[in-house]
Amino acid sequence: MKPPQTSSAHVLIFPCPAQGHVNSMLNLAQLLALRHLHVTFLNTEHTHNRLTRFADIESLLARYPTLRFKTIPDGLPEEHPRSGERAAEPLLSLKVHGKPLLRDILVKEKVTCLVADGLFAKLANDMAEEVGVASIHFRTIGASSFWTYFWAPYLFQSNELPVTGEEDMDCVITSIPGMENLLRCRDLPSFFRPNRDTGKPHVHFETVVSETQQSLRASAVILNTFDDLEAPALSHIRRHFPTIFTVGPLHQHRESRAPTSITTSNNSMWEEDMSCMEWLDSQPFRSVIYVSFGSLTTMTKESLMEFWYGLVNSKRRFLWAVRSDMIAAGEGKEDRVPAELVEGTKERGLMVGWVPQVEVLAHKSVGAFMTHCGWNSTIESVVAGVPMVCWPYFADQQVNSRLVSDSWKVGLDMKDVCDRNVVENMVNDVMLNRKEEFLQSAEKLAILARKSVSESGSSYDNLDRLIEFIESISQ
Ligand code: UDP
Repeated sequence: MKPPQTSSAHVLIFPCPAQGHVNSMLNLAQLLALRHLHVTFLNTEHTHNRLTRFADIESLLARYPTLRFKTIPDGLPEEHPRSGERAAEPLLSLKVHGKPLLRDILVKEKVTCLVADGLFAKLANDMAEEVGVASIHFRTIGASSFWTYFWAPYLFQSNELPVTGEEDMDCVITSIPGMENLLRCRDLPSFFRPNRDTGKPHVHFETVVSETQQSLRASAVILNTFDDLEAPALSHIRRHFPTIFTVGPLHQHRESRAPTSITTSNNSMWEEDMSCMEWLDSQPFRSVIYVSFGSLTTMTKESLMEFWYGLVNSKRRFLWAVRSDMIAAGEGKEDRVPAELVEGTKERGLMVGWVPQVEVLAHKSVGAFMTHCGWNSTIESVVAGVPMVCWPYFADQQVNSRLVSDSWKVGLDMKDVCDRNVVENMVNDVMLNRKEEFLQSAEKLAILARKSVSESGSSYDNLDRLIEFIESISQ
């Protein structure tokens, strides 16, 4: 048998050190390695230590001979908090400390193409330019959020920004091309809201907007979305960014590309509690609402109690993934999820630390997903055809939850409200009262998602085009 042809391209993939970013960029790494490109995946030491502990890195390496990992320090002590309010700190630290390390790797490893997280856009452009390699940006957010970030300066010109106070929050934003009248002020990314105490712009506003503009300097931009899902925003993005590759949902490609050799890989930075799968097996069809707020959200104990009471009062079954660090730090031992909640849930619910989410969403017992609308969670739910109840926490999640409720109509948006009665009512609307309506829309979207990564689908073809593009700029 002829050995597979190895490519001359050497791609360095550099994600922001957070679960959602690592997940989607590792999925891309596997797809490139599957096509025999040399891929080096650059993690921070902290992220890699967690992956080595909880994910299946060894079998990943065994499966893809041209994939390997490298690590650099993020410049923070190991025990430094990296979620909630502190979620951006590893990224900010890397932007300062990572420069010489990245330059060194690009040169020594003879990298031909850098695929960097768009949150590192300027760093990636500067380093790639300095060493003379191409820089491609991977945005792990949806196209509509990317477009909203890009359009922020024009929102000032049309006097739709700044948000001056609570009274503005329900004003409709009319001037984002392709997304006219979809978003209210409260649906703009959370970084567009001023600081509540000082009235000054959010500390991250300038950075997220300028990093997005930096993508105009990139050789190409990759988005983990598909054309049918975000057509209006994409049609406008393509006028400004001519080389865009919409290749999502990335986690779904693998089955259609190589059905026998590839299974869903576990990329988790927390230990997956597999007992939830057995529990789901014993529940009736579509009877369970799965609840998770992702890897970075933190909340007060009061908010946690509102969700808990809402879920219990709804009388629906629920599976809730509550990370050990989810209650906002600062309350000492009280940070833990109270044992009596976990105990008191047993009749109809199960609370665990971390679940294999893609498998959970695909389980026949799951009827809805209560989510913070991180982009990965959103697109995973879309693929699984599972309606959502949204409680966005920060960043692009505010936009995503609006798409869910008002554009795709596959769920309800609880935005800015955390109240047990609202939780109870929305859970019952999605699981019972309006169940058929949401399920039908969700199933339609899921069909489009699967079509996009099937042979001749838009994302399937775009992945081929991306690989050709990388090969061509790596000559
Ligand atoms: N996830 C998981 N198990 C959990 C909770 C989350 O595997 O119990 C995964 C989920 O499938 C998704 C990622 O963690 O791929 C979270 O990314 P997302 O963009 O949704 O949110 P973030 O964590 O970045 O806020």
